[in-house]
Amino acid sequence: MVELVPVNASWGRVLRTTVGLRPHRPGGFVVRAEKLDARTVVHDYGHGGAGHSLGWGTGALAADLAVAHDGRHAAVLGCGTVGLTAARQLQRRGFDVTIYTEAMPPHTTSNKAWAGYTPSSGLIAVGRRNPAWDAQFREAAEIGYRELQRMAGTNRGVSWVDSYGMLNDLREPREGRGESTRPRDPLMPAHLLTPPEMLGPGEHPFPSTYAARAPMLRIEPSRYLDGLTRDVIAFGGRITLRKFETLRDLMTLDESLIVNCTALGSRELFGDTELVPLKGQLTHLAPQADVNYSTMGGLPGSQNGLGIHMMPRSDGIALGGTSERGIWDTTPDEDARQRIVTGHIELFNAMARPRTGSAAAV
Ligand SMILES: Cc1cc2nc3c(=O)[nH]c(=O)nc-3n(C[C@H](O)[C@H](O)[C@H](O)COP(=O)(O)OP(=O)(O)OC[C@H]3O[C@@H](n4cnc5c(N)ncnc54)[C@H](O)[C@@H]3O)c2cc1C
Repeated sequence: MVELVPVNASWGRVLRTTVGLRPHRPGGFVVRAEKLDARTVVHDYGHGGAGHSLGWGTGALAADLAVAHDGRHAAVLGCGTVGLTAARQLQRRGFDVTIYTEAMPPHTTSNKAWAGYTPSSGLIAVGRRNPAWDAQFREAAEIGYRELQRMAGTNRGVSWVDSYGMLNDLREPREGRGESTRPRDPLMPAHLLTPPEMLGPGEHPFPSTYAARAPMLRIEPSRYLDGLTRDVIAFGGRITLRKFETLRDLMTLDESLIVNCTALGSRELFGDTELVPLKGQLTHLAPQADVNYSTMGGLPGSQNGLGIHMMPRSDGIALGGTSERGIWDTTPDEDARQRIVTGHIELFNAMARPRTGSAAAV
């Protein structure tokens, strides 16, 4: 029997609500090089809901393209998870890197992420795949998985948690009932996700007949991005605050190699009108040291429970479950906040309490 301490979910423990705009492209992320007058621009943007999962990987692909360029001085545009990991991959290949950015952590979208290893989340539209993109995706997912695993347990804000999804009937449609209980994502190389273990009645504390348990990589954005920023600087990198309004602004840079990691900023700067925001909202509860598992979905049968998810971190418990296409407004949506918090209160109130003082998974 798995025993877990329920999240102490209540309105009184709400700390704040944050909103981030995922940089979605129906055609998937862009990693490619192009010439801009005498300069080379390597693009690395459009990661949807998967930037933390894929950043190391697309950064490696972008840095490999950059190696073909003569110079070894690189300007990286953008200081979110994608810009920082691209900068590190360039440094590993011997580049001298300066990051130019309008905003840096904690003021990036990357700080507003739920941030599990979810490499295919909000990434590409149905029917838009092609073999070349698929190959890039697989390589990026693989590299990302390996790099994040290497960081787990090093106090860098990456660690493993067990993730639980709930369901009442093993035959019921599983969409929206949690990542770990969904049918396998056809985009994902099979070996990158551990198959969920199905716990039956009496084997788990959740208010459902079955619980699907699978290990998941957790990224804690504030610690992780802080660590990456320090690494970039420790390896000789510089960070300059600067917004680029037009391509002409780029011509004032000393570097002849530019790596573009501006996410949604590429819409204006590079005219990529395919980019569209997927608005996502998180409500954070006060931290709870004895909660070290994640949940996908809410109380089976409850409308509030559809598509919600919980991730515990050292700086709070993140509750999420929204994705609104094409919405640029970063004001928190009160209806969504009510649904997500109420859904989690319902779930954790209905969970069995541990029989002993300290919970343990057996
Ligand atoms: C609610 C939510 C949940 C999420 N959950 C997950 C998850 O579980 N797993 C996961 O992998 N991902 C998740 N994501 C997605 C992830 O946060 C994004 O994919 C990621 O942040 C994209 O990183 P980025 O560095 O490309 O963009 P950003 O963090 O937005 O960084 C872009 C950078 O470019 C700079 N910039 C932009 N335009 C210009 C300009 N014109 N001039 C200068 N600088 C410019 C910005 O200032 C910023 O520094 C989630 C996102 C949200 C909102």
